[in-house]
Amino acid sequence: MADFQKILSDNGLGALDEGDMEVFTPIDGALLGKVIKDKVSDVDGVVAKSMAAFDAWKGMPAPVRGELVRLLGEELRASKEALGALVTLECGKVYSEGLGEVQEMIDICDFAVGLSRQLYGLTIASERPGHHMRETWHPIGPVAVITAFNFPVAVWSWNTALALVCGNPVIWKPSEKTPLTAMACIKIFERAVSRFQKSGNDCPANLLQLLVGQADVGQALTDHHDVSLVSATGSTRMGKAVGEQVAKRMGKSLLELGGNNAMIVCPSADLEMTKRAVLFSAVGTAGQRCTTLRRLIVHKNVKDELIASLTKAYGSLKIANPLEEGTLIGPLIDDSSFNGMQEALRSAKEQGGNILVGGERVNVDGCDDGYYAAPALVDMPEQSSVVETETFAPILYVMTYSDFDEALAMQNAVPQGLSSCIFTTDVREAEYFLSAVGSDCGIANVNIGPSGAEIGGAFGGEKETGGGRESGSDAWKAYMRRQTQTINYSRELPLAQGVKFDVD
Ligand code: NAD
Repeated sequence: MADFQKILSDNGLGALDEGDMEVFTPIDGALLGKVIKDKVSDVDGVVAKSMAAFDAWKGMPAPVRGELVRLLGEELRASKEALGALVTLECGKVYSEGLGEVQEMIDICDFAVGLSRQLYGLTIASERPGHHMRETWHPIGPVAVITAFNFPVAVWSWNTALALVCGNPVIWKPSEKTPLTAMACIKIFERAVSRFQKSGNDCPANLLQLLVGQADVGQALTDHHDVSLVSATGSTRMGKAVGEQVAKRMGKSLLELGGNNAMIVCPSADLEMTKRAVLFSAVGTAGQRCTTLRRLIVHKNVKDELIASLTKAYGSLKIANPLEEGTLIGPLIDDSSFNGMQEALRSAKEQGGNILVGGERVNVDGCDDGYYAAPALVDMPEQSSVVETETFAPILYVMTYSDFDEALAMQNAVPQGLSSCIFTTDVREAEYFLSAVGSDCGIANVNIGPSGAEIGGAFGGEKETGGGRESGSDAWKAYMRRQTQTINYSRELPLAQGVKFDVD
C-alpha cells in the first residue's frame, strides 16, 4: 500500500501536527494530520489584502498576467503525479482520475494564457456623426472561490486561471474535507510567482490567499461587500444560501450546484457503447461527480438487454483502495455519505423500486474505516421524489419509456439542470434532443455520457444547478465588468435620439 506520509511530503506538506482541524483520508479513515483553521474574524483582513493586490494587478497588461498563469501551468505539469496522488489520498477518487483532475488544471491554464491576449471587446456603430462607441472589459475585483470536496483542485483552477488573466486576485475557501490539496496548490502557485518575479515582473503580494475553514468562513466571504464575485461550487442548499446573501448586497455570484443527470437510451442505440458510457458516468468517482449519471431512461424494447449487461458488469467492478492499480471504484467521502446512500435506497424501495444489484457496504482489506459501497442499480416504476433528489453516491435509477416525448419530458422533469445525454443513431431524435424544445440542461451530449467535460466549453447548468458557467467559451466574462464607452471626436455635441437641448 502506498505510503501516505510520502504522498504528503512529495507535496511539500511536512509535519501536520499543529492546528485545530483534523484531516482524514477516506481510503481507510486514518488521520492525515491537523491544520490551522481560519476564523470568521480573519476574513476582513484577508479581503483588505486582496483589495491591495487588486490595485496593483488590474493595471498590469493582460498578456503579462497570462505569463504568470503560463508558469502556473508549467509548475502543475511538474507536480502532476504528486498532486494527483494527494487528490486520491484526500478525496478518494482513483489515481487515474486524480491525474485527470490535475491535467484539467493544466488545460485551463493553457486556455487562460491564450485568453490573456483575447479579452476582446466590441466596436459599435454610433448614431451620431463624429462619434464612436465601444465595449471594453475591465477587471472586476477580488474573487472568492468556494469549492466542494469532490473536485478539490480542478474547480479552483478553472476559476483562478481565468480570474488572474482577467486582472483579479483570488481568495480560496476549499471544502473543509479537502484542505491539504488546497495547501499543496498554494505551494505550486508560490513557485510560479517566484519564477514570474525572477524574470523581472512585479507581482503583488496576496494575489492568491487561502482560507481554510468551515462554512461560516464561506458565509463571511459571501457577505463581504469588497468581494466582487463569489464563485461557489457545491450543493444546491449551499448555493441557495450564497445566492441570496450575495444578491442582498448587490454583488455578483457564479453558482455551480447539484445535478441530477439523465441518459435517454433509444431503440436504435449502440448498446455496447451505451453500456460503457453508463458504467463510467454512473459508477466512476463512486458516483460523486456533479455530472454523475443518476437517471437511466431506457426504451422498453432495449431495456432487458441493456439491464442484463449492466447487471453483469456491475458485478465485476473492482472496488478497492483507489491508489491500487486497476481499481475502478474508491471509497465514499465519509460515513454520512454512505448513510445518505442507504437512506435513499430505503426510500426508493418504499416508492416501489427494486434494487437489481449493489447498494451494500464493501469491505476492503486494510481499509476497515473506509466507506466503500457497491454501486446500486435500481429499477423504478416511475420518476418519484427520491429520483428527483440528488444523492451524492453511486445509485442509478432506471425508468422505462415507450414514446420519445415521454422520455424527454421525464429528462426535463427534475429541479436540477446540469448535464444530459441521449444514445441514438437516429439523427432526428438526436437533433430534437439538442433543439430548443429538447433537453433543458446546460450540457447536452449525443452518444457520450453526461460526465467528463472538456475545459473548452462553458461548464454549468440551469434551474437548481444555479445558472453559472465556468471554464471555456466566454465564461471569462463573469470575471470582468463591462464598460460601454462613447467618444466624441467632432466639434459638435449632438444628443442621442435627436433630442434638442440648446442653451444660448
Ligand atoms: P457542500 O455544499 O457541502 O460544500 C461546498 C462548499 O461550500 C464547502 O467549501 C463548504 O464549506 C461551503 N459552504 C457550505 N455552506 C455554505 C454557506 N452557507 N456559505 C458559504 N459557503 C458554504 O458540497 P460538497 O458536499 O462539498 O460537494 C458536493 C456537492 O457539490 C454536490 O451537490 C455536487 O453536485 C456539487 N458540485 C457541483 C459542481 C458543479 O460544477 N455544478 C461541481 C462539484 C460539486
